[in-house]
Amino acid sequence: MPCSPAQGRWIGSACQGCTQYCAIEVFNQNGRATRVRGNQHSQGNHGFCCPRGHLIPQENYDPDRIKQPLKRTNPQKGRGIDPKWIPITWDEALDIVADKMMELRNAGEPERLLYLKGRYGNTSHALLYGTVAKLFGSPNNFSTSALCAETEKMGPGYTQGLFSYRDYDLGNSKCVVFWGTDPFASNRQVPNVISRLGTLQKNGTLITVDPRLSTAAAKSKEWLPLLPGTDGALANAIAHVLLTEGLWNKEFVGDFVDSKNQFIAGKTVKPEAFKENNTLGLVTYWNEEAKDWTPEKAGKECRLDPEQIRRVARTLGKAAPNVIVWMGPGVCMNPRGTYSAMVVHALNGILGSVDNVGGTHDPVKALTDKYPSMDKYVDELAKTHGKGKKIDGRGDKDMPAAMKAKLGSGVVTNNIANYMLEHPDFIKVMISSWTNTPFAASDGKRWEKALSNVPFFVHMVPFPSEMTQFADIVLPSTFNAAEGMGAVTGF
Ligand code: SF4
Repeated sequence: MPCSPAQGRWIGSACQGCTQYCAIEVFNQNGRATRVRGNQHSQGNHGFCCPRGHLIPQENYDPDRIKQPLKRTNPQKGRGIDPKWIPITWDEALDIVADKMMELRNAGEPERLLYLKGRYGNTSHALLYGTVAKLFGSPNNFSTSALCAETEKMGPGYTQGLFSYRDYDLGNSKCVVFWGTDPFASNRQVPNVISRLGTLQKNGTLITVDPRLSTAAAKSKEWLPLLPGTDGALANAIAHVLLTEGLWNKEFVGDFVDSKNQFIAGKTVKPEAFKENNTLGLVTYWNEEAKDWTPEKAGKECRLDPEQIRRVARTLGKAAPNVIVWMGPGVCMNPRGTYSAMVVHALNGILGSVDNVGGTHDPVKALTDKYPSMDKYVDELAKTHGKGKKIDGRGDKDMPAAMKAKLGSGVVTNNIANYMLEHPDFIKVMISSWTNTPFAASDGKRWEKALSNVPFFVHMVPFPSEMTQFADIVLPSTFNAAEGMGAVTGF
């Protein structure tokens, strides 16, 4: 039988499967989404989307999605305890949730409402996290970001002053190091990386640092399967080779006053001997750390061949400044991950690739407006109680999280559960969306115990999860990748 093109209409949308927020198009056939592709006019993904984008229709129509609100009928809560849910209507569910929330307002204790956001989108970030918590008067609105991405932003934050993800000029790069990331399969810019693979292999050298033989590793010329958690040692050794062999980017970094390289293994350098251009503290870093990190020393620490470390450093040095050291979550999502993130990302500075052709760049901001301000609707109760102390301890001097270099300013998500365990009666109503902390947090059992104590918990999720088992009301939600035109506001 002759084939004819499928009948339907491509409709523009946005994917929120990751923070790339790709422009996509969805193929609509008789009101049903059947296929997804990158927006054909997009300069960001060149008309492609990644496997997560392609899976939007499957996720959307997954038979296991929660399709209507559910109410718990078993007051017992805990791992393995059947909630004995019954389906209820949206009106019933929203009335129950609103009544529970209003009980707190009527008792003059709105701070006992906890909202915990997981993946961000319009509903979760702008409305629930921002507007609702403010209007209601609870300071206890939190994100789960400390469980995932914060350290990845801290590395460029403390070295480059960019507390953010980065974008990369892949089309002009002569050498890319995928470090603790596999952007052929996940992380950011996935369609861009996949579509540019041929060019990247033709024009330059691909290097992967990952304990796992990832897709990126399989496509790379060099694979450094280091021991997990030794990324900092490897980065120091690469810096050591770049400096001792005179391979740093002199235009960006600067040079010795007399142009003679004094970076000699194990020997300190006088700060006044070096004149820096766009970096700050290179000699201090050398004296305090890099001078001792020979490839031999790092090779033992990372269980890598020192010759491979040397070879990779030289490849990077030769390609500089058109190089990318793509620092990913594998580098830093571990204890003391900020330090690893800093030293790995700092290689971009030594190589002069920051904001350079074929290098790393600030991410492009969405040219859109935010929601209008709701400030005029914030009443006295909300104003007074909304400024109270957050239960994760934010603002305390011993609080380790320092978003944008301000001590005590970042979230420590697990502290929320710790507080709930120490003060089991404090939180009376908890609402959470797109989260699964018993699964995602370190020592997730603390969350199971904390959630068991919450008298009223609302979980807003597309699929039931470990966390959902503790819910009193389950509200079906969109799933993150396909929240309608979700990426229309700045975050
Ligand atoms: S998951 Fe990320 S990279 Fe993949 S299509 Fe969606 S926004 Fe783009």
